[in-house]
Amino acid sequence: MMNSPERPGRRGTGSLFGSAWNAVQANMESLLGIVPAPRALCFYVTYACNLRCRTCGIWREGPGSRGAELSLPEIAEILSDPLFARLKYVNINGGEPLLRPDLPEIAELILERFPRLRALSLNSNGIPAARCVSRVAAISHGCRQRRVPFSVSISLHARGPAFDEIAGRSGAWDEVHSALEQLQDLQKSCDFFLSINCVMSALNADGLEDLAAWSRERNIPANFVLAEVRERFHNREMEEDFSLRPEQKPVVIRFLRRLSREEPFLRHHRLRYHVLADMLEYGRPRRLACHYRMGGAILGSRGEFFYCKFSREIGSCREQSARRIYYGREALRYRERELLAGVCPQCPPNTLNRIELEKDALRYLSFLLRMKFGGKKLHG
Ligand code: SF4
Repeated sequence: MMNSPERPGRRGTGSLFGSAWNAVQANMESLLGIVPAPRALCFYVTYACNLRCRTCGIWREGPGSRGAELSLPEIAEILSDPLFARLKYVNINGGEPLLRPDLPEIAELILERFPRLRALSLNSNGIPAARCVSRVAAISHGCRQRRVPFSVSISLHARGPAFDEIAGRSGAWDEVHSALEQLQDLQKSCDFFLSINCVMSALNADGLEDLAAWSRERNIPANFVLAEVRERFHNREMEEDFSLRPEQKPVVIRFLRRLSREEPFLRHHRLRYHVLADMLEYGRPRRLACHYRMGGAILGSRGEFFYCKFSREIGSCREQSARRIYYGREALRYRERELLAGVCPQCPPNTLNRIELEKDALRYLSFLLRMKFGGKKLHG
């Protein structure tokens, strides 16, 4: 999933007018049914992973299982496609991105290709800690030189040995804990935003409060997202193991409602938690914007191209230009009829990044006002 920086960036956020204009543009495009070129790209640089999480089987697509991963020259060629001319946000994701030895070069290539980027973000499991810290330092250095805000999100789904159980690797908690400590230390000399990404599932529903308290104590913001079955995760047969059981649903809903009330006042994810709780409790359709829907794409490690996390593969950038794939007649028909009409209403909002927040600015403002003046009973 794409993580844009939680903090205001140096580029773009300075301008309230810029944000207002983006909001008007996004709403107009949506009203007129225009399919905007991507402003955000999520790049799965590899499907290899050194964990065996019980919620994700992406590692089954490891290197070589369906052809070689994109090389640096191939990545450069794909990203020079005119489709990406208005790209402002790039998320480097996986698998485990740190397993690619050329990760700093990939980041450098992205920064060179898009010098006006508003944010570069990296999702990682942080293991092993030493490699994580050295790569983050290198990428952060490149971002600093170009004044591009950089954020790092480390996966952590429980505290202590419970995490080893979920991650399928003994000692995983110790390693991630050490990575987080070292990254916090690195923040004293390198400028990047650090957060934890926690996938909520049957495997950790009873430990969410514990993890939230731990992250608060350590002063590392945590994002809580719902476990999902996705084709690319190869996790359909794992679903029974990780799906929330009926008795756990109220626990998670209570947790989300508490976060939506008690997180710091201006932490925008409060709105996301509120909407997610409503979807879980009342089966309401999604009411929040989605950056993929508003112009986003996913590039797979072998050139596969997708509209979003739930999209089927719409083509291969190794075989065709990204622009031709994205605006292909068949692909657009699929996007309109199956994805937007069929999947979006039930798609849990697992991000609330800047693009989405700009579009939902009024909704967010109204939420804040109701929280401030309307008491705590927002749901129901
Ligand atoms: S299904 Fe819709 S809401 Fe979900 S990620 Fe795709 S475009 Fe966004």
